[in-house]
Amino acid sequence: MKLKKSRKERKCHACKTLISKGDSYGQKSITIGSKENGMTDSFDREKQAFVIHQMRVNVCLCSECAK
Ligand SMILES: [Zn+2]
Repeated sequence: MKLKKSRKERKCHACKTLISKGDSYGQKSITIGSKENGMTDSFDREKQAFVIHQMRVNVCLCSECAK
């Protein structure tokens, strides 16, 4: 995994270690939730709103966890 220098304080997603300003960290995208009927979102007629079933987010990993 390619490491970047952090420009602000972050928390490692895996071990919850604090990544201080200037420390190296890695970033990866993870998937949250699961698709419903093969869809990542769908329109809920009752709520009159889109419901997200699955989404991808970027999480930060400390240099140890990024190895
Ligand atoms: Zn970590």
